[in-house]
Amino acid sequence: MSTTVLEQRLYSVADWYDAEALLTTEERAVLGRLRNFLDTEAKPLLAEYWERGDFPEQLVRPLIDLGIMEPFAAPARGIYQGFRIFELARTDASLATWYTAQAGLFRTAIRIGASEAQQKEWMPKVIDFSLKGVFSLTEPEHGSDIAGGLSTTARFETGVDGGAGPDGGSWVLDGAKRWIGGASTADVLCVFARDVADGQVKAFLVDRLAPGVSLEKINGKTSLRMMQNAHITLQNVRVPEAMRLHNVNSFKDVAAMLRAMRSDVAWIATGIQAGSFEAALSYAKERRQFGRSLGSFQLVQEKLARMLGNITASLSLVVRLTEQQGRGIYRDQDSALAKMQTSLFMRETVALAREVVGGNGITLASDVARFHADAEAVYSYEGTHDINALIIGRALTGDSAFTR
Ligand code: FAD
Repeated sequence: MSTTVLEQRLYSVADWYDAEALLTTEERAVLGRLRNFLDTEAKPLLAEYWERGDFPEQLVRPLIDLGIMEPFAAPARGIYQGFRIFELARTDASLATWYTAQAGLFRTAIRIGASEAQQKEWMPKVIDFSLKGVFSLTEPEHGSDIAGGLSTTARFETGVDGGAGPDGGSWVLDGAKRWIGGASTADVLCVFARDVADGQVKAFLVDRLAPGVSLEKINGKTSLRMMQNAHITLQNVRVPEAMRLHNVNSFKDVAAMLRAMRSDVAWIATGIQAGSFEAALSYAKERRQFGRSLGSFQLVQEKLARMLGNITASLSLVVRLTEQQGRGIYRDQDSALAKMQTSLFMRETVALAREVVGGNGITLASDVARFHADAEAVYSYEGTHDINALIIGRALTGDSAFTR
């Protein structure tokens, strides 16, 4: 491959088999503009905000104005959506996670859970970020076993007139949610709660400022420090029937959301690898030991080759999964496989990148340290390694090893 050809491509080295050839010229141009913004405006802030444990809110408006949600006629093509997440994650895992909280989790909740009329009202606002929402599923006592264990309750109360009231009556929510990403700046929390009447899981858009809702920032994180996660308590919180997602009638509907969202996380895990690999490669070319560049040593070249192999395999996985989903094929085991395997590759890639950078690889002055730390949260969220493996195992054997 000649240098000239490499320079023309958006992802030169990390996208070894040229998956970006699947993008249109227009899509590549938008990604190029996103890249410029991230390089000039975001990158200089990352180390400082990571250390402070703060999200650089000043990036939000310009990112929205760049049209990161839907720059073309909606819906954007899956492959372009994937590369958009890849580009963000290649810069920073918290930025990608912040973006997918709205563009992936919340939008998917509305797309799958809201009725046609509700979608008509909310979706344009979701897309232009004027209605910011978060996905509030995990609870303090229920993470991996949330499907059967979800214990936040929803109780329906009829209106004061004894009937359903003008808005169809209201619900009363009680319980707690944990780890909810982006909750402190959201307009609404999409809360999943169990209806005490029929025992089924339902979903509600809860005003973040509603009486009875309290948020506490989770401090002391060693991973994804820029992304804000909240512990949420719900006490006697009233939600009108109109704010219930009318197409969520059981956990099966939530599972359909998770199935669609997990592929986004696989794109994040792939983008993180690209970012850490590129940082390690450029360091290996510049840093000299024993009178030669690190990159000239055979053992370092082997590490670089393994990283590239991991990234190439990850990109092949997510591209193929995205193509399948574009054809309407959504299976639990498919997105679980992509999330599990790209996360395994990610863990190895970020560790190798950190190793190549030596002592400097544990300071925030090098990008590899941030990627290395942030990868741990991505490894665990939206289904841990074990849970995704068990989803695949269930599909392979027909025997569920983890559901009751
Ligand atoms: P646990 O379920 O307690 O698991 C602990 C360990 O035990 C894991 O290694 C797990 O794999 C293993 N384990 C559990 N059960 C089994 C089994 N049957 N067999 C074998 N091993 C098992 N949730 C949201 O709803 N919204 C969000 O926005 C959100 N954002 C997040 C952001 C971050 C940074 C993090 C860390 C989490 C976030 N989560 C969010 C929650 C996330 O999805 C959960 O952390 C995840 O599902 C795992 O649950 P847990 O942490 O309670 O671990």
